[in-house]
Amino acid sequence: MTITTVLFDMDSTLNSIDEIEFSHKYFKMLHERFFSEFELQFFYESLTNITKNVMLSKSPRELAIKTFMKEMSKCYKKPQKKLYQDFKDFYANDYNQLEEFVRPAEGSQEAVQTCFDKGFNVVIATTPVFTEAAIMKRLTWSGMGAFTFKLVTHAENMHFSKPLGEYYTEILKKIKKKSFECIMVGNEFMGDVVSPTRIGIKTFYVPIRPDNEDLFISPELKRFSKIKPTYRGKLLDFTKIIKNDFQKLD
Ligand SMILES: [Mg+2]
Repeated sequence: MTITTVLFDMDSTLNSIDEIEFSHKYFKMLHERFFSEFELQFFYESLTNITKNVMLSKSPRELAIKTFMKEMSKCYKKPQKKLYQDFKDFYANDYNQLEEFVRPAEGSQEAVQTCFDKGFNVVIATTPVFTEAAIMKRLTWSGMGAFTFKLVTHAENMHFSKPLGEYYTEILKKIKKKSFECIMVGNEFMGDVVSPTRIGIKTFYVPIRPDNEDLFISPELKRFSKIKPTYRGKLLDFTKIIKNDFQKLD
């Protein structure tokens, strides 16, 4: 195989994150600090919707952060500049309280280190709906602070987001690589397996529960059931594959 580049998803792939507790506290802190004039439930639902809109936005000339601020400004009637400043301040300070919900995933250090040792380019392909500061903090909490990545995607450098295929096309363009040179490692079937597969990127699927096939069965994903990851397993298996220069696992 002519792989030169490894793309890693971050949340629930390189780290172990309690996503429910994490987002619960995240929303609550943001609400208390900047949006307490709104009902918590309204804030939770509207910000969730805005985030989804940003993820599905197809504006090639508008950075994700701009789409985010525009949508928030419309919804909460606050100037975009003020919102951006508030978020910057929030990520620099309050956000540190969320560290307790994130820890490195088993085998993640070795997997990433092995990629660097073997001379691969390594990209962090995480959903770019947060600012660079927020993503770099989560990356550090995931035990990845010492690595120098080829690219880390975030809302300030990406126009497209997962699960859109355009997200991967944008990464390829940025790092000047062809799809057949890359492999994507991630835990989400749609965003980390289906989308990259469609544009010719190989995949290593790391479901949170390795024996769980439910993603192939759930109704909304069933239409993609013909798409299979190139490999699947745990990060430890991925490390073995890398060490064996992509020979198939037994
Ligand atoms: Mg993930």
